[in-house]
Order: sequence, then C-alpha cells, then structure tokens
Amino acid sequence: MESDWSSLSFFWPIAKKTSSLFSLLLISIIKYQISNIKNQITSILSYFCPQKLSLFKHNFHTHSAYSDGKAEPEAYVKAAIAKGMYSLGFSEHAPLPFENNFSVKDADTLRKYVGEISHLRDKYGQELNIYAALEADYIPGVSLEFSKLNDDFGLDYIIGSVHLVKNDDGRMWFIDGPDREVWKKGLENLFDNDIRAAVTAYYEQIIEMIQTQKAEVIGHIDKIMMHNKNEFLNEEEPWYRDLVMQCLEAAKEYDSIIEVNTRGLYKKRYHTFFPGRWILIQMHKMNIPITLSSDAHAPEDVNTLLDEAEITVRQVGFREMWIMREDGWNAEPLD
Ligand SMILES: [Zn+2]
Ligand SMILES: [Zn+2]
Repeated sequence: MESDWSSLSFFWPIAKKTSSLFSLLLISIIKYQISNIKNQITSILSYFCPQKLSLFKHNFHTHSAYSDGKAEPEAYVKAAIAKGMYSLGFSEHAPLPFENNFSVKDADTLRKYVGEISHLRDKYGQELNIYAALEADYIPGVSLEFSKLNDDFGLDYIIGSVHLVKNDDGRMWFIDGPDREVWKKGLENLFDNDIRAAVTAYYEQIIEMIQTQKAEVIGHIDKIMMHNKNEFLNEEEPWYRDLVMQCLEAAKEYDSIIEVNTRGLYKKRYHTFFPGRWILIQMHKMNIPITLSSDAHAPEDVNTLLDEAEITVRQVGFREMWIMREDGWNAEPLD
C-alpha cells in the first residue's frame, strides 16, 4: 500500500506536468487551426465581396497630382473615408535637383503640398487620420539629406526608396515605371549587361540609405526584380540572397520599418508583393517591423490588395503591424 502511494506521489507531478504540457500543445494546435480557418474565411470573403471586407485600414504610401499621382489630394481622402479606412499618409516623390517627370517640382510646391494636407486634416480629421510625408529617393551625392527635408518642411515621416541606381561614372539607371525596355537599356548602357554589378549597386545604395538617412520606412525593397522576369537573374542565386540579407540586417540594425507594397501585383508588373515571400519569411525570423501599403497613384487604389497583403503576412507568421499615429510609429497587434 505504502509503496503504491509512494509510486503515486512519484508519478503524480510527472503526470501533472505531462498533462499541462499536453494542454498547452492542444491549445497551440487549436489556436493555429483557428488562425488558419480565419485566413481561409478571409480569403473566401475577399474573393466574393472585396469591397465589403477591409482588414488593414491604413495606407501610408500615396501619390497625388503633386508628384506623379492622378488626382488632387482631397479625392484620395474622400475615397479613403468611403472605403472605411482609418489612416491615409501622402508620400509624394521628394524634389530632386534635376529635371524629371515624377517628383514634386521645387521647395515652393512642396510647402504648398504640406499646407494643403494640413488643411485636409483640419477638414476631415474627425473621420480619417491624415499625414504629410515624402517618398524620398536616395542617390549618393545627388539627393537632398532626408533630415534636411524633415527639418525644412515639417513632415510626419519619410519613406526612403531607390528608383535610380548610380553607376561608377555617375549616370543613373531608372529601374521603375511600366516600360521594361527602359530597364533593359539602362542595364546594357550603364552596366554592360552585368546583372550582378547592377543589382549589387542597387542594394548597396539601399544599405547606404538605411545607414546614413534614417528613413522611418523603406519602400519596395526588391523592386529591382520587377523587370527581371527571370531573364537576367535567378533569385535563388546565393550572391543575390546574400545581398538581400545584408540589406535586411541593415534594416534590423537601424530599426527601419519595411513596407509590404502591393502596387507591382495590382498593376500586373510583378507576380508578388514587394518584398517577395522568401524575403518576408526572413524578415519574420529577424523580427523586422513591417507596414502595408498600396503605393496608390489614383484614389481608387488607396487600399488595393491590402487585405490580400495582410493575409499573406499572417500566413508567414507576422502578428503585428506598424502604424503611424499622432505620437509616431507604433506596433499594433493584427488579431
Ligand atoms: Zn517608389
Ligand atoms: Zn511610391
């Protein structure tokens, strides 16, 4: 009898521990299944009634007619309110010291832009959080310091992006826009079709931007691949993966938020979001902060594919998102 009790007292804590471990495991499995079911339901709902479903109600990357967007800022504000969004950040292309057809023209126009956004905030601030920001290009030795833009124009934040890659003799390769021929010509004329040299120059420029400019958000980090279409480079190449990883390590070190940008996908110029899934998986492992953006150039696109982007990042494992509020950028839970 005594030996029975003693063996029971020996086994009881083990049994208790095992059962609590088992319960924990069971709870995790149930939680995982619920999250999977939630994702499935969301996917089905967004397919059948996309206009009714809105998961992510913020977009901090928007271009109006002040840069290369299609309409006046107020039209975007009205569209965002109609779609039930909570926040809209305008991010015109920052002025550049050379002739171009996409950025805000000059300092006076930039001042007018910031004033107009502030006026819209007064008018619609009860219904929508509105921010005045810039998407600033980083071109070493050419573009304005981001901190100077911030100080001179009182911006809410800056998205740092690379659209123009500088080669060794100082000429610039335009890697964006709908025309793939421009990308191919630039690769040929500025880099002698040396894809490794060209892509390395792109990522080195982004890394330098992260290290020297302190942009709060990094825009469409792997956009360089948009016009590649598997012709010049296979993304599996170890040297390419190394470059991207160096870039992510810099973002991690400097606390940069990396946006998940839906524009390439809805404009049918790329097969996935920027960045692509394998990069998102690495970012999740490294606990890099993210936000979602549609990079809208027209009012109807203020939230295009944001729900799908949220489903994707949830599947990858992200459980929080960085949102701009009155007091700055904060992590907010997705669930
Ligand atoms: Zn951009
Ligand atoms: Zn943009």
